[in-house]
Amino acid sequence: MIACLERIVHENDAECKLDDDVSTVSKSLELQGSIESGDVSCSASKDFGGLYSIKPLFSIKPSGAEDISRVVKFASRTSNLTVAARGNGHSINGQAMAGGGLVIDMRSTEENHFEFLTINGSPYIDVSGGALWEDVLTHCVSRFGLAPRSWTDYLGLTVGGTLSNAGVSGQAFRYGPQTSNVTELEVVTGKGEITVCSETLNPELFFGVLGGLGQFGIITRARVKLQPAPDMVRWIRVVYSEFEEFTRDAEFLVSQKEGESFDYVEGFVFPNGDDPFNGLPSVPLDPAHEFNPSHIPQTAGLVLYCLELAFHYSDSDHLSTVDTVVSRLLGRLGFVEGLKSEVDVSYTEFLLRVKRAEEQAKANGCWDSSPHPWLNLFVSKSDIVNFDRTVFKTMLNDGVNGPMLIYPLLRSKWDDRSSVVVPEGEIFYIVALLRFVPKGQSVEKLVAQNQEIIKWCIEEGLDFKLYLPHYQSIEDWKRHFGNRWSRFVDRKASFDPMAILAPGQNIFTREPSNAIISRDL
Ligand code: FAD
Repeated sequence: MIACLERIVHENDAECKLDDDVSTVSKSLELQGSIESGDVSCSASKDFGGLYSIKPLFSIKPSGAEDISRVVKFASRTSNLTVAARGNGHSINGQAMAGGGLVIDMRSTEENHFEFLTINGSPYIDVSGGALWEDVLTHCVSRFGLAPRSWTDYLGLTVGGTLSNAGVSGQAFRYGPQTSNVTELEVVTGKGEITVCSETLNPELFFGVLGGLGQFGIITRARVKLQPAPDMVRWIRVVYSEFEEFTRDAEFLVSQKEGESFDYVEGFVFPNGDDPFNGLPSVPLDPAHEFNPSHIPQTAGLVLYCLELAFHYSDSDHLSTVDTVVSRLLGRLGFVEGLKSEVDVSYTEFLLRVKRAEEQAKANGCWDSSPHPWLNLFVSKSDIVNFDRTVFKTMLNDGVNGPMLIYPLLRSKWDDRSSVVVPEGEIFYIVALLRFVPKGQSVEKLVAQNQEIIKWCIEEGLDFKLYLPHYQSIEDWKRHFGNRWSRFVDRKASFDPMAILAPGQNIFTREPSNAIISRDL
C-alpha cells in the first residue's frame, strides 16, 4: 500500500490516473468516509483569504476519529505526506491547506457528537470538532435554554478551528477566549492515536492543542462549558471623537465585576465622514434613526471610535428596569452626546448578527469571490495610543473598506498553559483589520500595507502578537513565541514528531528523514 501511495505522490505532478488511484487508496485505507482527488478548484485548495490556492493530493471526508486516525497513521508510513484538518476554511493565509498532502474535511464529522451533560451540577455540551458554532448555538439555546459563555463574532467557524487559535469576541473580557471555556477534548495526535485529554488527563496535550495552530493533534470532540442563555439583548453603540476617552471607558467596563458592567464589550474605528458603508451613516443600529453629524465635535480628527455594548435580560424582566440599569451604566461613560444608538433583539439574533452581514456581502459578491487580506493583532494597552496615532490616524485614516475592530481583553482570563501567546500587559487590545478589497485596488498593495504595519510594530518594539499568525520564516516564529518557543517545539516532538500535521501554518517542515529537523531550537 505504501508503495502504491509513494507512486501516486510521484505521479501526481504529472496528473496521472488519479481517479483509479482514489479508489485504490480509499479501499486500502478502509475508510468509512469518502476520498476525492484534489484539484485546483476543490474547496480544500482554497480559503476565505483568497490569497493562496494550494492543491492537495486528496481531500478526505472522514466519518469520525477512527478514519482520521487511519489517515494520519497512513501518512506517517510514507516518506513525505502531510495532513491538514480543514474546519470551515475561514483562514486567510492557507493555514488549513496541505500542498500535495491530505486535507481532512472536518465538516463531515459535524453531527458525530452532540451530547448534553451535567458534571458536578454544571452544564456542558460535547460537540464535534467539525461542528459550526452556529449549530452549537441553535441546538443549545432551542433545546436546553443554555449557551456557551464565550463566542466569536461570526459563528460560521468550526469548534476545532477556533480552539486551535483562541476564539475571541465581546464576552472574552469576562470569560476568557473559547480556549478557556472547554474542559475536555478528544484529539487524534500526529502519531494517529485517539486520545482524550483535559486539565488532569494528558494535560500537556490538552493545553498544547488549545491555541496550538493544529500542530499537535486534530480535535474531534470538545466539551464546552454552558450557562443559562438570556432571552434578549439590548445592543448599543456610542461614538467617541477622542481615542483616550474611548479607551478609558472600554477599559473601565472590562475591569468591572459581573453585574456592574455590560455582558459584551467591543469597539471599532471608522473614518470621520459620510461614506454610507464605512463612515458615520454606517454606525447606527436602527436605520430609521440616523446620527446627526453636527454632534461631532469640531476638534474631532480623521477617525472616530465606537464602543459596541450588549446587556442581557430575560423576557420576564420589566423593560423599565432594563432601561434604568442600562442608563446607569451608560451614565458613567463619556461618549459624544447625541451619538448613541440602541435596539432590542433576541439573544440568537444578536449572536447571528455577522451572518446578516455575510448574507449582504454575498449578495454584493464581495464575500466568496474577492480576496480578504485580513490582519489581526493583539496590542498591549501600553502601546495602544502609539498604535492609534500611527496606524489608525495616519496609515488607515481612510479605513480599510471593512470593519476595523479594537477592544480590550484581560490577560488573566487566558490560560498560560495553552499554546496561545498574548502580549505581556494585563490589558491588551485585539485589533482586527477586516479588509474587503475595493474595486480597482490591488490586493498586493493591501498585503504590503499589512506587512508595513507588522514591521512598524516590530521596529518600535511594541508589546504585541499576531492573532491567527502567519509568518514565512522560522526567525519570525521564534520571535512570535518568545520564551514559549522551546515548549512549542517540545510539544511538537511529543505529539507530532514527524511533522505531519497542519503544514499550512508553515512552522515545521516534514522531511523524508521522519523528524522535526529543519526547525532548530
Ligand atoms: P480553518 O481555517 O479551516 O482552520 C484553521 C487552522 O486550524 C488550520 O491550521 C487547520 O488545520 C486547523 N484546524 C481546523 N480544524 C481543526 C481541528 N478540528 N483540530 C485541529 N486543528 C484544526 N476569530 C475569532 O477569534 N473571533 C471572531 O470573531 C472571528 N470572526 C471571523 C469572521 C470571519 C468572517 C472569518 C473569515 C474569520 C473569523 N475569525 C474569528 C477567525 C477564525 O477564528 C479563524 O479563521 C479560524 O481558523 C477558524 O476558522 P475555521 O473553523 O474555518 O478553521
